[in-house]
Amino acid sequence: MSASGPGRLLPPPRARYDSHIEPERISVAVIGGGIGGLSAALSLLQAGFDVHVYERAAVLSEVGAGIQISPNASRVLHGLGLGDELARMGVRPLAFHQRRWDDGRTLLRAPLGDTMVEAFGFPHYQTHRADLLATLVAALPRERLHVGHRFRGLVDHGDRVEMAFENGTVADVDVLVGADGIHSDVRSALFGPEDPVFTGCAAYRGLVPAERLRHLELEVTAQIWMGPGAHFVHYFVQRRRLVNFVAIFEQESWTRESWTDRGEVAGALAAFEGWHPQLHEIVRAVDETFIWALFDRPPLPRWSRGRATLLGDACHAMLPFMAQGAAQGLEDGATLTACLLDADDVPGALRRYEALRLPRASRIQALSTENKTRFHLPDGPEQRERDARMAGGSTDFALKAVEWIYSHDAAALGPRQPSTAAVGR
Ligand SMILES: Cc1cc2nc3c(=O)[nH]c(=O)nc-3n(C[C@H](O)[C@H](O)[C@H](O)COP(=O)(O)OP(=O)(O)OC[C@H]3O[C@@H](n4cnc5c(N)ncnc54)[C@H](O)[C@@H]3O)c2cc1C
Repeated sequence: MSASGPGRLLPPPRARYDSHIEPERISVAVIGGGIGGLSAALSLLQAGFDVHVYERAAVLSEVGAGIQISPNASRVLHGLGLGDELARMGVRPLAFHQRRWDDGRTLLRAPLGDTMVEAFGFPHYQTHRADLLATLVAALPRERLHVGHRFRGLVDHGDRVEMAFENGTVADVDVLVGADGIHSDVRSALFGPEDPVFTGCAAYRGLVPAERLRHLELEVTAQIWMGPGAHFVHYFVQRRRLVNFVAIFEQESWTRESWTDRGEVAGALAAFEGWHPQLHEIVRAVDETFIWALFDRPPLPRWSRGRATLLGDACHAMLPFMAQGAAQGLEDGATLTACLLDADDVPGALRRYEALRLPRASRIQALSTENKTRFHLPDGPEQRERDARMAGGSTDFALKAVEWIYSHDAAALGPRQPSTAAVGR
């Protein structure tokens, strides 16, 4: 493995581990070049593994939208040596501000800003997805990235995994990681086909030049407006040059044929009829809006089999109502690296990775699903009860409520369980 690259690679953290694995002799294929796959590859590469990423698209790209990077995730990116880039491209919001849909009344305001650094050691950022992806791509040596490689299948031979791609490439590796998103082909190959489930929610999203909204004097906060059957999130990205919005509303069904990715501004306005004028002004100011259906899947019983495992949306796609999907993928990569470094054999490492990650990701998945009901309550007794609890300041995004999520150090492993320390590479 070459530790060359754009000067960001940290010394391998091997010294911390009591392992018989020699990373430089272990080849790893990461299938999928999204945020999850690229960050995992970078983590593995920095630890000394011989890692390559295989992406089906001809070009690595992300959708034009924002993403929140909570402290548990920014900790991982800092660990990859990307703290400076993150600080350059990210916006550090002052607070999460949860508001009522019609009059904008505050339901809960939870501090972010310096409070995150004081409490968890790392900032909370809001970034443009494309900027984050470009940073990860730039940090990986080019020869490690293989675009135009659509994974087709695998055979686990016990001592190695054989993988095949649609372009005819066939290769053997020691470890295969499926980071190929919600419709994961690796997951199907490992555990059989299973379709993601339509969640009953669709989202309009858009990026608005902030100068068009100057008159609104928007605070640098993540604003989450909650109302009957819908919620609306907006925050700044790209050094406050753009305002990102995601407007999520409930739909009974989703038929691919009747929707295109591009949405109509009029449709977004109609879905939020009667909501606060600020939200309408944001939507009206957008040049183009996109619509996408939200799918998720129930937690999987297993992520790993033999020498292959899953990571990111491939194994824990979730509703975005805790803003944790990508964050959990980033955590996966850090834990996977630590498990491989600390193990004597690959299957044992992958079992330990699954044992550490699956319960946590499943819990966050469940919380995200619960928030669909909580965020979308119609006005009435349940909504009043929810608002009263929120006023107590210990639910939703309040520091106390998210502490267990944001304080997590994904690279820190607990003691090894005996069953994970089997012999053989
Ligand atoms: C509206 C919305 C808002 C969100 N906001 C947040 C947020 O604020 N914070 C947060 O942490 N998360 C958020 N998320 C979740 C986050 O976007 C996802 O969890 C994350 O992007 C998933 O990353 P991934 O790398 O696992 O998968 P993907 O980004 O889907 O990447 C998978 C990659 O695999 C490739 N691929 C697929 N099949 C193959 C194959 N057969 N062979 C080779 N390559 C293949 C794809 O082309 C793609 O590049 C949000 C999601 C939504 C929908």
